[in-house]
Formats: sequence, C-alpha cells, structure tokens
Amino acid sequence: MLIDSHCHPADPAFVDDPLAPLRRAAAVGVSGIVAIAAPAFARAHQASVPGLKLWATAGIHPHDAAQASDATWAQLATDAAEPLVLAIGEIGLDYHYDHSPRPVQRAVLERQLALARDFGLPVSIHCRSGASSPAPSDDAFDDCFAALAAVSPPGGVFHCFTGGPAEAARALELGFYLSFSGMLTFPKLASLRDVARTAPADRILIETDAPYLAPVPHRGRRNEPAFVRDTALALATLRGVPLEEIAAVTSANLHRLFPRAA
Ligand SMILES: [Zn+2]
Ligand SMILES: [Zn+2]
Repeated sequence: MLIDSHCHPADPAFVDDPLAPLRRAAAVGVSGIVAIAAPAFARAHQASVPGLKLWATAGIHPHDAAQASDATWAQLATDAAEPLVLAIGEIGLDYHYDHSPRPVQRAVLERQLALARDFGLPVSIHCRSGASSPAPSDDAFDDCFAALAAVSPPGGVFHCFTGGPAEAARALELGFYLSFSGMLTFPKLASLRDVARTAPADRILIETDAPYLAPVPHRGRRNEPAFVRDTALALATLRGVPLEEIAAVTSANLHRLFPRAA
C-alpha cells in the first residue's frame, strides 16, 4: 500500500490513455494517488481502477500566478469545499523558471495560504530557488518561510523537497512534512539523500510528480505513478528499513497530514 502523494495524472502527457498508468500503479501496490490541481479528474476516475483511491488538491501553481483571474479564484474556493480535495496546492515560489514575476508569485502564494487557513486545509508547497541561490535574492526558501510565518495554514508538505539540511530543519520546525521524489535516485544529489536518511519517520512522504522527474532506472522517460515504488525502495535502502515499512509509514503520514483522506 504505497501512496503517490503528488502526481499529475491529468497532464497532457497522459492524454492518450490516462487510465493505463493508474492500472499499472495499482498492479505494483499503489493504493492511492493525490492528483494535483485536478479535482475533476479525481472525481471522474474515483471508481475507475479497483483498489486505487484517487484524491485531489486545488491550487494555483507559481508558474501560473500571473494568469490567475477572478474566475480562477472563484473556482478555487468552490474546489476547496469538495471533500475529495485534501489540500491547497501546489502553491509556492519558483525562482528557477520565473514563469510569473516573483512579486506576483509571492502575492498569489500568500492569498492561497490565507484561503487554506480559512478552509482549515493543509498546503502542498512547491519551492524552487533560482540559479544563484544561496544568494539571498534567488533563495525561494527564505521567501516561502516568510510567507508561512505571515499566514500559517494548518500544516503542509514541501513537495519534491530539494533543499538541504538547513531548509529541512526549518520546514520540520514549522511542523511540515517533506516529500521525496525520484530525485532521491539521481546520483548527484548526495545532500538530498542525507536529508532523506535522517528526517523523522513521522514526517516523510513519497511522490512521483509524474509525468516529470522519473526515478532511476526510468530516468529520461515519462514518469508515472507506478514508479513511486522505485522512490520508496531508494528511501528504504537509505534508511535501512524494509520497503513495507516505508510504505506503511508514508501512508500513515499522508492520512495524518490530510484529514480528508481518512
Ligand atoms: Zn512542483
Ligand atoms: Zn507537481
């Protein structure tokens, strides 16, 4: 019973046959998938694959912050009230791609944090620093933590965590969870593996972020939720515990973090 805590099954990359990857996930023991910013997809396919639970989040990605209209905000408030919507997300700051101006990203993040607080929902945070981080102006983590300090939602997760030990410590101090993606298997990222090895067992989640970031041995291909098993295996090896324990712990953590998933 693995749960992919962050996946984009409604992405155009899966449009040819969106159910096939879900079936393959169920076949390798995935029992749940959180479909990011895709409540309609989760609703439509809730009963499509036996044994596979589909939940969703609702949120405005930092890439799209500049495009958010009044209609976007109205839809977000409607979606947030839906029981299968577990969290507001993914929301945050992306100073790597800068698809929206940074001040707009920050304003949209803060407004969504306030919405999460008002709905009593946790958040899924996307936080990616710019190329010259740790130069302060490119450090997305500092700005994310500042926003979270200004407007505190009832908990959340740093999805596809890419920070080092210092950022992990700050996130954990805030009561947040850390979600590890296929990047855990990328050879260069030793400091990320250090974080994954030492993070408290009751604060770790696993995800694919499919269709992006396929783990080794699928690297370079389209990622899909079945591959969450490879990330779980990498995490199990790092922590010296059986895969079953990682599956059980990360599933229990997801249910604790996202009360609507109960
Ligand atoms: Zn993301
Ligand atoms: Zn994502």
